[in-house]
Amino acid sequence: MSSIYDKYEAVIGLEVHAQLTTQSKAFSNDVNEYGAMPNHNVSPISLGHPGTLPTFNQRSPEYGIKLGLACGSEIREQNLFARKNYFYADLPKGYQITQFDTPICNGGSINIKLNDGSKKSIRLTRIHMEEDSGKSIHDQDPMFTLVDLNRAGVPLLEIVSEPDLRSGEEAYQYLAEVRKLVRYLDICDGNLEEGSMRCDANISVRLKGASEFGQKVEVKNMNSLRNVQRAIEFEIKRQIDLVEAGEPVDHETRTFNAVDGSTSGMRSKEEANDYRYFPEPDLLPLTITQEYIEQVRSTLPALPNELFEKYTTTYKLNEYDASVITDSKEVAMFYEKVVSHTTNYKSAANWVMTEVKAYLNEQAIHLSEFPLDGQQIAEIITAIDSGKISNSAASQKLFPALVSNPNKSVEVLAEELDIIQQSDDSAIQQFIQEVIDANPAEVERYKSGDKKLLGFFMGQLMRVSKGKADPKKSNQLIKNSLDAL
Ligand code: ADP
Ligand code: MG
Repeated sequence: MSSIYDKYEAVIGLEVHAQLTTQSKAFSNDVNEYGAMPNHNVSPISLGHPGTLPTFNQRSPEYGIKLGLACGSEIREQNLFARKNYFYADLPKGYQITQFDTPICNGGSINIKLNDGSKKSIRLTRIHMEEDSGKSIHDQDPMFTLVDLNRAGVPLLEIVSEPDLRSGEEAYQYLAEVRKLVRYLDICDGNLEEGSMRCDANISVRLKGASEFGQKVEVKNMNSLRNVQRAIEFEIKRQIDLVEAGEPVDHETRTFNAVDGSTSGMRSKEEANDYRYFPEPDLLPLTITQEYIEQVRSTLPALPNELFEKYTTTYKLNEYDASVITDSKEVAMFYEKVVSHTTNYKSAANWVMTEVKAYLNEQAIHLSEFPLDGQQIAEIITAIDSGKISNSAASQKLFPALVSNPNKSVEVLAEELDIIQQSDDSAIQQFIQEVIDANPAEVERYKSGDKKLLGFFMGQLMRVSKGKADPKKSNQLIKNSLDAL
């Protein structure tokens, strides 16, 4: 059934603020850390007291260049800083230092994958450097707004997308990709819940096929990927309802309410501040040389897209496995360790995605606390592949024993657990003789043509060998023995 909503298309652009995980702030040596005692990491420089001067943290452009290179952006040579002036309690300086018309990165793109398997490239407008404001806390005191200035001056990258997104799901995937990227690059911890990554969504609607964009509304205060999607979906419906009712969409900033998934008006853009941008007089322009860009490029880690490509083409993993593994840098790095000791890539993926993951979930621990290293997982795989232990003995006995005794070798533990498969012919031959001697009637029936009994003999062989006879080898040997009778 078609609905009025199908006549419309949403247009969405995201502005993402990523707090950089530098040790000190953008323009002072105040400590940059989350969760410190409120107002403890604050110096006169962060407060902009008269007579203080900002000094530039070199990590900000380094991180900006990393992200720009990872997104294929153009890196600017001459970077200027500007003051963006406004009054607010959490901005004691009265201005924010930012990049106005000379962002460190221009262009570039982020590739996303949607749930239906399709792919899309989302263009970036720009990435620029700026500093964070302090934090106003509205929900801890019934009467007052509290202000924590620890955040004032923390370095940020603002990543602005073109209005290329068309649904809440696309916005979700885009933001998930940006978060994955900053985590791989180790420049931001990407924690939307704690606010170290924040996203403002610009949303408008228009009739499908229209060439002009509709009036956009900006929505703030979504603290998870899921809530970004919910806010956008609510807003799309609200705007379509307005248009259908012949009412205008106001140019405004709205806030998201996570309890009921709605958005409500915060301030109208008509009364928007005039920020009076002007060049920051206390900072010199920053020149980024080609040489420096190349130096930063040489420090880039393997990126999730490159690993995905390698896993699906060279390692022949399916797309699902490759995306599960590359979804987290930690998991991908662990997998890399495993496959540096085995070429059974598929089995390595299975072990990381099933046994290892299940153990982490069970114990409620992080991969960094996992007692085994990649090489030990590879040794288990090699033991299975060489026929030394069976798959089931490996996952049911060896793996649990190894995580409790990570210092023991796979070899020694397999001995102790008595799960080493007999693959040497003479040992298996002895078991076969036992089975033949114990079952004369079945041997007669086999000889007279009932070849299906081979399964019965294999079962008996597994019983007398207590499951330790290498099945592939045993099957061949028992068949040879019976046929020779
Ligand atoms: P502003 O001047 O209001 O900050 P910008 O042009 O800087 O607007 O764009 C801010 C963000 O809004 C960008 O991510 C951009 O892609 C997005 N955007 C611009 N126009 C629209 C629109 N009509 N609908 C949805 N998003 C839009
Ligand atoms: Mg803007």
